[in-house]
Amino acid sequence: MELAIISGKGGTGKSSISAAFATLEKNVLLADCDVDAANLHIIFNPTHEEEEVYIAGQTAIIDYTICTNCGICKDYCRFDAIHFVNNRIEISETTCDGCQLCSRVCPCEAITMVDNDKSRMYSGTFRNGKMVYGRLAPGEENSGKLVNMVRAKVKAIAKSNGLNNIIIDGPPGIGCAAISSITGVNNVLVVTEPTLSGLHDLERTLELVTKFNLKAWVLINKFDLNPDMSLQIEKRCANLGIDIAGKLPFEPVFVDAMVNCKSVLEWAPESAISKELKLIWSRINAPQA
Ligand code: SF4
Ligand code: SF4
Repeated sequence: MELAIISGKGGTGKSSISAAFATLEKNVLLADCDVDAANLHIIFNPTHEEEEVYIAGQTAIIDYTICTNCGICKDYCRFDAIHFVNNRIEISETTCDGCQLCSRVCPCEAITMVDNDKSRMYSGTFRNGKMVYGRLAPGEENSGKLVNMVRAKVKAIAKSNGLNNIIIDGPPGIGCAAISSITGVNNVLVVTEPTLSGLHDLERTLELVTKFNLKAWVLINKFDLNPDMSLQIEKRCANLGIDIAGKLPFEPVFVDAMVNCKSVLEWAPESAISKELKLIWSRINAPQA
């Protein structure tokens, strides 16, 4: 079973839930596809068996020993990445999109394109199986492609190690990285919380999941903080024909576990929340009619 856990927005408890599922059974293959803010490696401290560079596009740089400061490149940059700063032409690393146009129009050939090579993909072993995670360096882009790279690695490791239980901690939102995280999985668990913005983001996320014709589940985290809104979410899901996988109460033990680099199932296995998570896992894994 390949389960992707996503959310419409950050801070819903998605990664804590992914961590809990990753410690329910042995021989799990865990993929942290939240590449802009990967954090499961902090909890699980996996061995680093492989490290691969991810080239996240290119950035233009100027050779000032050649540049005549003519400003032609500035006129062509449609990303507004080139400016005169103290009368000298400069390219903003963070704004440059890597389109290469300036390097083509520069009459002096003073601009070269360099790879953005700070992002990485790591794979290794953690206490319950294998783990793959991507880390996009600050300012680097194309997170969806890095997620694709993580997913391809997961597929290869699953095949060579005979692992069937794959858990993907996806990114929040409905962008390219989220799409890359859910493509081709058996189940998608959308984690939400009972707020108006939670409901709004859930609607957008479910729209995305149903477009891909994937089996979707919804988990309402901290449902007891706003029972009326939780009920509204349940009704909305019923209207859409989406199953509620379960509801978790607000429980500080969840945070305590993460602070101590454990999943809640490891930290407080007898807690009500751990028991509910086990039920949710078995619901999702039960053969579907
Ligand atoms: S076009 Fe080339 S020479 Fe002119 S300012 Fe830009 S980098 Fe310098
Ligand atoms: S590569 Fe493209 S985006 Fe970057 S500075 Fe040159 S023209 Fe602008």
